[in-house]
Amino acid sequence: MASHIVGYPRMGPKRELKFALESFWDGKSSAKDLQKLSADLRSSIWKQMADAGIKHIPSNTFSYYDQVLDTTALLGAVPPRYGWNGGEIGFDTYFSMARGNASVPAMEMTKWFDTNYHFIVPELGPDVKFSYASHKAVDEYKEAKALGVDTVPVLVGPVSYLLLSKPAKGVEKNFPLLSLLGKILPIYKEVISELKSAGASWIQFDEPTLVMDLDSHKLKAFTDAYSELESSFSGLNVLIDTYFADIPAEAYKTLTSLKGVTAFGFDLVRGSKTLDLIKGEFPKGKYLFAGVVDGRNIWANDLAASLGTLKALEGIVGKDKLVVSTSCSLLHTAVDLVNETKLDKEIKSWLAFAAQKVVEVNALAKALAGHKDEAFFSANAAALASRESSSRVTNEAVQKAAAALKGSDHRRATNVSARLDAQQKKLNLPILPTTTIGSFPQTLELRRVRCEYKAKKISEDEYVKAIKGEINKVVKLQEELDIDVLVHGEPERNDMVEYFGEQLSGFAFTVNGWVQSYGSRFVKPPIIYGDVSRPNPMTVFWSLAAQSMTAFPVKAMLAGPVTILNRSFVRNDQPRHETCHQIALAIKDEVEDLEKAGISVIQIDEAALREGLPLRKSEQPLYLDWALHSFRITNCGVKDTTQINTHMCYSNYNDMNICFGMDADVITFENSRSDENLVSAFCEGVNFGAGIGLGAGVCSHGTPSMEELSDKIEYMLAITAMLDADVLWFNPHCGVKTRKYTKENPALKKLVAAAKIFLKKL
Ligand code: GLN
Ligand code: ZN
Repeated sequence: MASHIVGYPRMGPKRELKFALESFWDGKSSAKDLQKLSADLRSSIWKQMADAGIKHIPSNTFSYYDQVLDTTALLGAVPPRYGWNGGEIGFDTYFSMARGNASVPAMEMTKWFDTNYHFIVPELGPDVKFSYASHKAVDEYKEAKALGVDTVPVLVGPVSYLLLSKPAKGVEKNFPLLSLLGKILPIYKEVISELKSAGASWIQFDEPTLVMDLDSHKLKAFTDAYSELESSFSGLNVLIDTYFADIPAEAYKTLTSLKGVTAFGFDLVRGSKTLDLIKGEFPKGKYLFAGVVDGRNIWANDLAASLGTLKALEGIVGKDKLVVSTSCSLLHTAVDLVNETKLDKEIKSWLAFAAQKVVEVNALAKALAGHKDEAFFSANAAALASRESSSRVTNEAVQKAAAALKGSDHRRATNVSARLDAQQKKLNLPILPTTTIGSFPQTLELRRVRCEYKAKKISEDEYVKAIKGEINKVVKLQEELDIDVLVHGEPERNDMVEYFGEQLSGFAFTVNGWVQSYGSRFVKPPIIYGDVSRPNPMTVFWSLAAQSMTAFPVKAMLAGPVTILNRSFVRNDQPRHETCHQIALAIKDEVEDLEKAGISVIQIDEAALREGLPLRKSEQPLYLDWALHSFRITNCGVKDTTQINTHMCYSNYNDMNICFGMDADVITFENSRSDENLVSAFCEGVNFGAGIGLGAGVCSHGTPSMEELSDKIEYMLAITAMLDADVLWFNPHCGVKTRKYTKENPALKKLVAAAKIFLKKL
């Protein structure tokens, strides 16, 4: 019985690659240093999997930045602005595409399906001259082989690659990207043939787009592509891997009928319906790669249950054709539990990170082959039992309160226009009020203070004094800039979700549980292991401190329940919506305490609300239903005069329904990439009655010029023609925590100046 891993985190257990990359980018170390460290990381990962007993070990899942960008390099599809002149693509061109350089900005980055990983979007068109320009896949195969590990080279499949790309600048928006298949397949053939010559006997194509809603034209592209590749497959076992959701029945049919393909991989953690499809029909003589170990979460596998599933599958596909696998690449989970020295022992026993999941896969494969490691299985069963019965997981009162939510709608009693009127009487804001999204630049000094307080090197008094000093600075700055609704700047927060998680019960934190977000950037999601409640107020103290420093209204800052949920590792022993409702109740307590303390404007960020949208359209309404309900629960109890703001990142036209559903008083949008989409929504007369803050100015590319801002103004004028001027706000796109003060001040100054110019034009 064989075992397989779809892919493995590439950054090392302590983010070694991150630091090597950043040092190389800063010119502090050489390309050689970077290559050496990377080779060491790859080698230790391969050896680790080989030692664990894994049969099908992936290669080419390492990346200096991103596997989709690697594919762009493989195909030589470098946008002309990077000035590449052919030949093997080196670090210069590669990192320019990834991060931009002094003269050209980076390529666009977007979310990899519904994960928090971001990939570099290929820019394609009829004029792209494809060529085989990166031999990374073959080199890494050979490298592993030289170390004595025969691997399965992994490639992003040709159809998914095209479906994930976008028309290059200047190319028609509806250019048929799939028409490029004929041009990229010859290069795939070259790679396959080189891999074969190097000795590969398996090859894996990742085609996760197969789990999306694809029309028959797109499905046909899979049939066409793999028929074309079939001749080069002779002598090879070819695996097509899908993941992240159930595969639709039509796509399953297309996939399992592909010529020359000998193995199919499915996500059986998220895809329970796929199991039925397999039970209904599976092609004779083909391999099934059964992804039963969750690559998206950190919980120990229920080995007994997985073994049951696998045994049932064995009866369908045959003993020698079943391969135990992970549900997707382990890239999306934390790396190694061994490094968690501070985690509570009991909680730790419930967890499995990537390194532990490799062992689980192997244990399952061995058990199927009749060599069950009884001790390992019973330790697993004991851990699961302790989790199930632990008093730290269950909080009766919370369960009861969450259950009581069922069946009611939770909306504020008054409609939004009446509420805005009541709020205006109290707040007396000018037309086109200005505000910011919450965080202000976090200086090194500030980070030091937080660290020292955490390490108990400075006293509580010293800490409070330092943070209050920072708040005062930020408040005075906003007053000087003539901003209308102020913030305290979030200096006490390291991360907008972690800050709340640390104060809620039911959350645990890791020291090294990092997951790659993009390039060298990582997130360390909290682990929600138990019923969530809020023992004490979390933000009232700091908001009141800020309010006491100014006569202007200070807006309190909270993370919304859906965002907290989507940015955490969520418990898998109850439905996500139940956990979300519990968080909503905790945030509701906070909202009400803020109101009681006299705060009149409260922002509940739902920056990551869209991140949880299911991939398939049919499943989205249900998600939105409970997600928006959760948001409304947080503020359904406040007075009309309390203004509820929310903020969303990367919004687009399709989000307008979400905005209606939130029923907030003011919604500020991150709008740096999606102008056209938002404009088209408003131009079509979408008006949810709430105040609308259109992000402008301060964005990741630096300080905007006055021209850029005045363009923005023209565009806002176009929108005002559709909307009442008095619903518009002016704000930076997003929080500015990672920016520096030297840059921020002129940008914010310009923002306010632009608002005044805009006012004159009304
Ligand atoms: N209030 C948060 C901040 O300003 C919002 C962050 C976000 O939009 N992602 O940092
Ligand atoms: Zn944002």
